[in-house]
Amino acid sequence: MNLILLGAPGAGKGTQAEAISEKLNIPTISTGNLLRAAVAEGSELGLKAKEYMDKGALVPDDLVVDLLKGRISQFDCQNGYILDGFPRTVTQAETLEKMGVVIDKVVSIEVPDEEIIRRLSGRRVCPGCGASYHTVYKPPVEDNRCDKCAAGLIIRDDDRPETILKRLTVFREQTEPLKEYYFGKGKLRIVIGQEAVEDTTKEMFKVLFD
Ligand code: AMP
Repeated sequence: MNLILLGAPGAGKGTQAEAISEKLNIPTISTGNLLRAAVAEGSELGLKAKEYMDKGALVPDDLVVDLLKGRISQFDCQNGYILDGFPRTVTQAETLEKMGVVIDKVVSIEVPDEEIIRRLSGRRVCPGCGASYHTVYKPPVEDNRCDKCAAGLIIRDDDRPETILKRLTVFREQTEPLKEYYFGKGKLRIVIGQEAVEDTTKEMFKVLFD
């Protein structure tokens, strides 16, 4: 099964992807995490991407598509995968189609802007494994340490207040049109991103599996 999770930054795509990934035993591919890994490695691609990411802008398609192609050709993707953060534009969705990728379902997680801002300002991420936490909604067991790999948690550079607003605008203008695109193909499902993560997961499983 190939799935796409759509939603504003901070809507909970990563968290929900983890739950689906466990249930279906397929990997999550987060282009944001792939890009952050490239930045951390200091590769040429990472250096180019960082300029855009720090501003809250989208990284040019060719860079992201190259990373994605490399990832989905790996062995663990042969039974399917969950895309988190890709496609981000209609052009990227068309590229995915041209690559021969068949998408089964697209779930859009809907969360109002005020809530997004609250969530992103409290978000903490693990630089080691990419797991995501929230100071109030999803705190780690041990203060500021990743539950999975025990690395110290950090605040993402692009979770600063000015950048959050820019990312929201980019989402509304460039990514949201994808809902209409996938609605037209009969693949779109909508889930309201609730306060409790488990409630959203329940809704998510309903639209995916009922
Ligand atoms: P995310 O972790 O999905 O919020 O992504 C963090 C940042 O990585 C975004 O603000 C973009 O700068 C970049 N990014 C991630 N995925 C994409 C994509 N599919 N296309 C372009 N830029 C992306």
